Amino acid sequence: DEIKQRHESTASDVLTEDTYGHYIGGEWVDADNGETFSTVDPTTGSELAQAQAGTAADIDRAVAAAREAFEREFADTHPDERQRLLTDIAEIVEENHQRLATIEVLDNGKPIEEAMGDIALVADFFRYFAGAARTATGEQVPTGDLFDRDKHISTLHEPYGVVGQITPWNFPLLMATWKLAPALAAGNCTVLKPSEETPLSVLEFCKLADSTVPDGVINVVTGYGEEAGEPLTTHDDVDKLAFTGSTAVGKDIAHNAADSVTPTTLELGGKSPVIIHEDADLEQAVETCMMAIFFNTGECCAAGSRIFVHENIKDDFLEAFAGAAETLQMGDPLLEETDLGPKVSQEQAERTMEYIQLARDDDADVVVGGDTPDDDALAEGAFVEPTVIDNIDHDNDAVQEEIFGPVEEIFTWSEYDEMIEQANDVDYGLASGVITSNINKAYDTAEDLEAGVVWVNHYNDVSPGMPFGGYKQSGNGRENAMETIREYTQTKSISVNL
Ligand code: NAD
Repeated sequence: DEIKQRHESTASDVLTEDTYGHYIGGEWVDADNGETFSTVDPTTGSELAQAQAGTAADIDRAVAAAREAFEREFADTHPDERQRLLTDIAEIVEENHQRLATIEVLDNGKPIEEAMGDIALVADFFRYFAGAARTATGEQVPTGDLFDRDKHISTLHEPYGVVGQITPWNFPLLMATWKLAPALAAGNCTVLKPSEETPLSVLEFCKLADSTVPDGVINVVTGYGEEAGEPLTTHDDVDKLAFTGSTAVGKDIAHNAADSVTPTTLELGGKSPVIIHEDADLEQAVETCMMAIFFNTGECCAAGSRIFVHENIKDDFLEAFAGAAETLQMGDPLLEETDLGPKVSQEQAERTMEYIQLARDDDADVVVGGDTPDDDALAEGAFVEPTVIDNIDHDNDAVQEEIFGPVEEIFTWSEYDEMIEQANDVDYGLASGVITSNINKAYDTAEDLEAGVVWVNHYNDVSPGMPFGGYKQSGNGRENAMETIREYTQTKSISVNL
């Protein structure tokens, strides 16, 4: 059919291999055990390519290559050399903007316009950290009365050496960039394990960057979590771990890292609230909430998936929001008019449908959607309708757990303190939103929310200079901004008596 043909011919234009290797020490190599797995286009259900199914033996090779590169040259690079490297990478990404975005659409199912936005951010993050490489130095520390004033204290922020990085499937190349760019800026060499659902953009990125990046500075091992990811988290020669993914896996990684006291940055799940005050501009509230839950098909760790709307404007808001959700165009993500693509896989679509069923079992009102589309052209894809649920019990698992799909849940409030208590009453604390026309309310509510990010009157915008990370079980450490340079360096204090 039409969608399948379009996807097949696009794939042959943008993908350069039928079977991709691991990228280790600047070479493309097969898995030690010779096994591969297939990566599937979630719009059509067809295979896009094969990638290597890595195991501990491949992780060993990649870690050794990263160590060799670190000791051979990267540990001694000057910040300005790393700045040039990251600037060159940003340029390569910009030159291949459309192709990399198209690969994301094929492998992940996200609409092309959103994928173009992802890749623009990829280049922007590399540029930001190119600059950061030059500023991430140390400090001269003043001594106090109790310390001999003739002594001089200064600090150095030194790279760890070899870092292990594991990323999810929702923003494949962007999440890899959030890890690679600061790690390299700080002077580390890396072994990256992308998600088995979406390895292709990272692999094509490595092909493009190969002649620019010294061998072994970036290594990529593909494969499944337990076979390829876990050995990276238990490896003796990995000095630092960074993970983005589910809270369940994040906890396993923290346990593994504890055995060797390896520092970890964890960016985990979310169940973020959006608070709508009575004085909110209705149009802005609808626009913000649409962005909060339907951007990237709801597959955002930060998704604003619980709306708390003031009772005096609830009916008007719900009518306008439901109306807007109904106009979303679901379809082929390669087409610019498409607002909502498929979920990343059939398994994820089924998971979303199970949560909707939990709401139905609880007699909640499914106001919009709640089903898979009744459209033959989309029958092979992992599509779930944009869904809005009202009158659901806050203790329902569909409210307490992360759905990671285009499903919004509505709560109505009148007492501010009670509402804040409920908004904070989940294990997660990644992000949140506030919609109001009053600056004092905006700041007061921002302070009351237990979340690492608060967006006021907009949602889901990120910038390389904005620290990002979770309170509570949404993780520890921060990505982006200079805070992440600290995550990829260890501080040495030098006290001199000379
Ligand atoms: P996931 O935890 O299943 O997988 C993430 C990565 O971990 C994949 O590469 C996977 O192969 C690997 N993995 C799985 N088991 C492993 C193990 N035992 N040891 C080592 N690695 C293992 O998550 P996912 O389904 O890919 O992504 C969705 C999740 O990611 C959601 O919970 C979402 O909220 C979260 N997420 C968080 C952020 C953030 O910044 N906080 C950003 C994006 C996604």
